[in-house]
Amino acid sequence: MVKCQVVMDAMERLAPKKLAEDWDNPGLLVGSPSQEVNKVLVCLDVRDDVIDRAVEGGYDMIVSHHPLIFRSMKKIRTDLPDGRKLARLLKHDIAVFAAHTNLDIARGGVNDVLAERCGLGELQPFDTTGEEKLVKLAVYVPRDYADAVRDAIFSAGAGHIGNYSECSFNVDGKGTFKPLEGTHPFIGTEGTREAVDEVRIETIFPSMLQGKVVRELVKAHPYEEPAYDLYPLANKGAVYSLGRIGSVEAPVTLDVFAARVKEGLGADSIRVVRAGERLIKKAALCSGSGAEFIEKAAFMGCDVYITGDVRYHDAQRAVELGIHVVDAGHFPTEQPVVPVVAGYLRDELGKVRGGKDVEVAADDMLKDFFSFM
Ligand SMILES: [Zn+2]
Repeated sequence: MVKCQVVMDAMERLAPKKLAEDWDNPGLLVGSPSQEVNKVLVCLDVRDDVIDRAVEGGYDMIVSHHPLIFRSMKKIRTDLPDGRKLARLLKHDIAVFAAHTNLDIARGGVNDVLAERCGLGELQPFDTTGEEKLVKLAVYVPRDYADAVRDAIFSAGAGHIGNYSECSFNVDGKGTFKPLEGTHPFIGTEGTREAVDEVRIETIFPSMLQGKVVRELVKAHPYEEPAYDLYPLANKGAVYSLGRIGSVEAPVTLDVFAARVKEGLGADSIRVVRAGERLIKKAALCSGSGAEFIEKAAFMGCDVYITGDVRYHDAQRAVELGIHVVDAGHFPTEQPVVPVVAGYLRDELGKVRGGKDVEVAADDMLKDFFSFM
């Protein structure tokens, strides 16, 4: 058993809330962070049949992609679908958490899973939504403790530059301090100025990790009051984006490509917008409902764009712009992330106290609302 907060923290590490679009409503939507969780059900939508399964299976938390509560509510009428669902969830003490556009954007989230299922490699950002802010840390450590502090801040995620990890710069120096009345100094005595051989360790980390890096630093540092500086940097951090651009190994026709996508997603049916005989090497994609980015994909030189919810005039525009479109459907482009999130939570909860016994299931029985005749 874990607290609901522990599951929320694990989800935050996968899909930080601050990645979400402004209009979105991710996070804990029903329940309390302090409630106990023994069974988690991961799904795309909190539908009536998902709640049925949660109630019958004794699940105490649902983690969904689409937020159950999206717009502000002025009434909870239990004779209408939203109120009915909320009443059942509250009655059975089932918490509901959503990771929506933050999970679309996150590395390893909906779009990365979709790209992998579509057989795309060499992934690049598509529609930029933000950029990681970087922070420089300088910490002053007595020489014998430098390794321990470096280990702690590196394992908290500091020190990554491109494909290099554990990057730091270290310079020896002399630190001075005078413990004042009431202190419990690790070195020295009250009222006397001390001089100690110290190392100034400098490293870098994404601002998102600041809390964790500082916490681990303070834990590993022997001093009562560790001295450290944090500098915001103007260096460019990693780019976050909705969607991805990727490439196929060798150019293929639209028919071959579309068949691969259909099979990769296990979709019953897909729709194809054919813009001439152009072969496919470079593709853009956006999970769910991304027809608004057809032009962008065309301007970025993509041969095909994969998304869902494409309307008639979107298709017309694509043909005019000369870019093929594969409309694989909203559900089939997003559902593949469900077992991935469930697997992630299983691994993460397995690392925390009480988390090994928590059962995590992926709702893989759900079907698309659309069927084809
Ligand atoms: Zn969606």
